[in-house]
Amino acid sequence: MKVLKFGGTSVGSAARMKNVAKLICDGEQKIVILSAMSGTTNNLIEISDYFYKNNISGALEKINILQQKYADVVDELYSSDEYKSEAKLNLKNIFEYLRSFSKSVFTLFEEKAILAQGELLSTAMFHLYLQEIGENSILLPALEFMRIDKNAEPDTAFIAENLAKQIATQPDKMIYITQGFICRNFYGEIDNLQRGGSDYTASLIGAAVNADEIQIWTDIDGMHNNDPRFVEGTKPVPVLHFEEAAELAYFGAKILHPTCILPAKLANIPVRLLNTMEPKAPGTLISTKSKKGKIEAVAAKDGITAIKIKSGRMLLAHGFLRKVFEIFESYHTPIDMVTTSEVGVSVSIDNVKRLDEIVNDLKKFGTVTIDKDMVIICVVGDMPFENIGFQAKVVGAMSEIPVRMISYGGSNYNISFLIKAEDKRRALNALSHALFN
Ligand code: ADP
Ligand code: ASP
Ligand code: MG
Repeated sequence: MKVLKFGGTSVGSAARMKNVAKLICDGEQKIVILSAMSGTTNNLIEISDYFYKNNISGALEKINILQQKYADVVDELYSSDEYKSEAKLNLKNIFEYLRSFSKSVFTLFEEKAILAQGELLSTAMFHLYLQEIGENSILLPALEFMRIDKNAEPDTAFIAENLAKQIATQPDKMIYITQGFICRNFYGEIDNLQRGGSDYTASLIGAAVNADEIQIWTDIDGMHNNDPRFVEGTKPVPVLHFEEAAELAYFGAKILHPTCILPAKLANIPVRLLNTMEPKAPGTLISTKSKKGKIEAVAAKDGITAIKIKSGRMLLAHGFLRKVFEIFESYHTPIDMVTTSEVGVSVSIDNVKRLDEIVNDLKKFGTVTIDKDMVIICVVGDMPFENIGFQAKVVGAMSEIPVRMISYGGSNYNISFLIKAEDKRRALNALSHALFN
């Protein structure tokens, strides 16, 4: 069985939903995961923000605008009055639910319940549309089987067992539709897999049912060799190794959620990136195969802070690095890049929530310097160290850019630079020019 995920733009209007229905109704049994219609999750965050600020009229105004948007989609999506009124009844229930938060205390728990409504709306509307056109589909409630544990990690055993149970109730359906992004946490509360997390839902479900293939359908024809939002003339990469795709996703290629490759890689299920607007385009196939000795793509991760700890006395003493890393660990702050010299160590982080405490503790071991507003530029490809010349080419391309840190050798698949945010566009373009033109 294949697992197909359609992102926000792919279901972003009545016409797009009809297009997705055409794409998936081919007589093959499949699981279809949908995101919320594009813009909806942002709207729901905005509504929550009004509730947090106790500006009830602001929240209600935004809710009314969003409801009207959905009512227009319903009018266009269904042809019969019967289906239109059923869809409107569902809208009414969901939007009444949103309004009901004006009467309660508003916390993160309420916000997560609000955010879940986007995917609940899109899947209910799409399923109803398939019913109207006579397709054999069923809606599987993700909140019944998608679960994360105490550490916010997916509970894969629970997911596999409960998804199988859901499917077993209706084994003869052709299209199983479910919500991306949303889940329950260890305490049974509504939660989610973070922004862009529908990709993660797709790979978790793919692994849970041991799918033949996981397809991520979006608004571009596969993983491009550079970020199309900053570089003109980027091109799709036909084939990527799981490791290469994981590096690109982690280091900012927005087309994939950072964690989405791991479950597919562990289960060895190929992931295909495809374009809803151009379904015949080959896209990108991510699997255990890669193009040998080739630099494939570049990505950039924003919002990075560099921290340098200088200590001539301590570095060579054994245990110094452990003590430094333990400080980050104790504040649950992952490190992205690390570079060392005889007198100091530099690391980069993207989560600065506990920065003050971290710096305070690090000062016990040396002099601490911070650089904010940095970006990691990550060059990805098959680059084992025997393969001479690629690093000179990559570093040469960056000759005009001030570089704060360089990292290579953590894997065969990546060479990374830490630079100032203001140099990001210039660096991405310089790399495209030197590596792909
Ligand atoms: P969806 O809503 O379908 O999940 P996203 O907006 O999350 O879609 O991801 C697709 C977008 O990712 C593209 O429109 C593109 O602007 C952006 N993007 C960033 N880097 C890349 C890249 N290397 N290749 C392709 N798309 C990329
Ligand atoms: N709707 C969610 C978001 O906008 C999840 C997703 O689209 O993947 O982040
Ligand atoms: Mg996405």
